[in-house]
Amino acid sequence: MCKAFAGGRLGPGLRPMIGLLAVWLATASGAWADKVLQTPHVRIVHDPALKHQAVQIAAMSPAIIENLKRKLGLPFDLRPTVVPAPDRESFRRLGGRAWLSAFAVPRKQLVVLDLSRLDQRSGDLYATLKHEYAHLALHQAIARRHLPRWLDEGAAQWASDGLSEYLPAVQRTLLPQAAAAGRLFFLDELADTFPDDPQGLHLAYEQSRSFVNYLVRRFGEDALRRLLQSLAAGAAPWEAFEEAVGVELAALEDEWRSGLRRPGSWLANLAGHVYGLLFFVAAVATIGAYLRFRHRKRHYRAGEDDDPEW
Ligand SMILES: [Zn+2]
Repeated sequence: MCKAFAGGRLGPGLRPMIGLLAVWLATASGAWADKVLQTPHVRIVHDPALKHQAVQIAAMSPAIIENLKRKLGLPFDLRPTVVPAPDRESFRRLGGRAWLSAFAVPRKQLVVLDLSRLDQRSGDLYATLKHEYAHLALHQAIARRHLPRWLDEGAAQWASDGLSEYLPAVQRTLLPQAAAAGRLFFLDELADTFPDDPQGLHLAYEQSRSFVNYLVRRFGEDALRRLLQSLAAGAAPWEAFEEAVGVELAALEDEWRSGLRRPGSWLANLAGHVYGLLFFVAAVATIGAYLRFRHRKRHYRAGEDDDPEW
């Protein structure tokens, strides 16, 4: 996974980087005071050229925070520092990995965004900010030892309508094939960190979202909120699961796993290839229309077609 940051797990090799970031932020709040935009909800440390985006972030933060408090059922008693990076290189210098569009460092209440990756779709800034704030809220409320990585990521994706900070190399789901081939990770394997290899990382992000969505579909949103509140109150994950949904975590995982293997899950498989399918259907329709046109044209030339348009 983004063993380093997303969700707040900081790899040892990156600690010096965060130290540098802290120094930069400290400097920014002093000598570069004109680059810090502060509101009661958020502090944005930005390049002067990004003033417009900083104002956008400040404007959208209160609504995101209110929505997250309701959705997760957790408090949000913190004021995040958001650092928007204008391009890949600045993001990388701040510690961002190539496969991320953003990352959160909960212990510093910090969110770093790669704006160059968020310009592609209009809702991305809002949803990405919401996703990273969700990580901050989860870590603020729940002790690290009680917050499995898959739940941290799955709940944050659920709260931000399925969006995450992970940018997969291929835009398709790996879940149905992995389930059919028996290559899914056990949730236990995703409790501390996510894998480093691209396929494993992609699958870990998908599994986290899929399992949390399954839990919500099966028991309702209130059950997820009860689970998070119980973890926040200090319960261990196995205990919190039984309290929130009345089913053991291992039993629920088995149920979810078998659901993914069922033949009906071919629909989910198809959904992962939706763009390819649309392209194929459009190509077949175009070829069909062209053949029909040629056929009619031939008849028309031969004086056998009574349709004046062809
Ligand atoms: Zn995340």
